[in-house]
Amino acid sequence: MKLTGFELRVIEMPLVSPFRTSFGVQTVREALLVRAVSDEAEGWGEGVAMNDPLYSSEYVEASVDVITRFLLPALAQVKDLNASGVAPALAKFKGHRMSKAAVELAILDAELRAAGVPLSRELGAVRDRVDCGVSVGIMDSIPELLDAVGGYLDEGYVRIKLKIEPGWDIDPVRAVRERFGDDVLLQVDANTAYHRGDARHLAKLDPFDLLLIEQPLDEEDLLGHAQLAKAITTPVCLDESIVSARAAADAIALGACSIVNIKPGRVGGYLEARRIHDVCVANDIPVWCGGMLETGIGRAANVALAALPGFTLPGDTSGSGRYYSRDITDPFVVENGTLRVPTGPGIGVTPDPDALEAVTVRTEWITF
Ligand SMILES: [Mg+2]
Repeated sequence: MKLTGFELRVIEMPLVSPFRTSFGVQTVREALLVRAVSDEAEGWGEGVAMNDPLYSSEYVEASVDVITRFLLPALAQVKDLNASGVAPALAKFKGHRMSKAAVELAILDAELRAAGVPLSRELGAVRDRVDCGVSVGIMDSIPELLDAVGGYLDEGYVRIKLKIEPGWDIDPVRAVRERFGDDVLLQVDANTAYHRGDARHLAKLDPFDLLLIEQPLDEEDLLGHAQLAKAITTPVCLDESIVSARAAADAIALGACSIVNIKPGRVGGYLEARRIHDVCVANDIPVWCGGMLETGIGRAANVALAALPGFTLPGDTSGSGRYYSRDITDPFVVENGTLRVPTGPGIGVTPDPDALEAVTVRTEWITF
């Protein structure tokens, strides 16, 4: 396969409702799509950087810049480039994992489409459907939260995740437990909003039998997470801290987490995501697939990853309708609490040209 060029496309997708986390409120998802064009097939990748550097240091405009100025020129120097050669060729550039992941997925998708192989099979998937959880943002009031959670349970979601922050933690969890009972699979995500001194406060979540608490402390505070894990009974799960398979191995060895949220964008791509899966499986650490408000492109690839054997907890792999009234691909629809793993070659979905055009802010073509 000979790559001939890349299209970078910045899109803006309006969300069906504002999504509030401890980082702030989001009403539109700005994202970068990468289309890799070769002499045999074209492939799509989706960047998960947000428009502000809040979840991580990356953001959309920086992604466009680093891909254009550094990543693609470096890849253009590689003879017989294929997807597994992308990460080694880009390793000399520090960080920028979300940008690297978007480029790698586009090339991987093109390669798999040319070979007629589905991404799920390439990664080692063992299921044809995956369980769907949903991430519920911070609300203005408890009644509003209960309405939202009730709606998602009615839609069939099998696991509820509540975003929390200081001032919105114990009471919302108690309210959801009281209204919907102890059988609902329930977990919380703090997106780094707490500090080491909050251990006693976070221990107040222990009686609610949560599946996990996700990333309570700063992303660089592995030791703090290890200490917290000893001080509370709710299992600690890491998200932002796990940027590579090595980071996962370190966190596990330190006792900083007993569950890992895998997000391919955060770790530099689906191939590194699979390595993290393998490290976790070898250590008996359950994993689940996180989400970054992906369009159908990233969602398709996430669902393929979530079908691997170590993904034993429901992910944030929600239906498209959770975020978008009109997705750029055929929408992913929740049926019996599950999403179907795409079976077509590559990621198995292709954007609809009209839907894509409607959300495009600008495109840039880079001849390879
Ligand atoms: Mg998270």
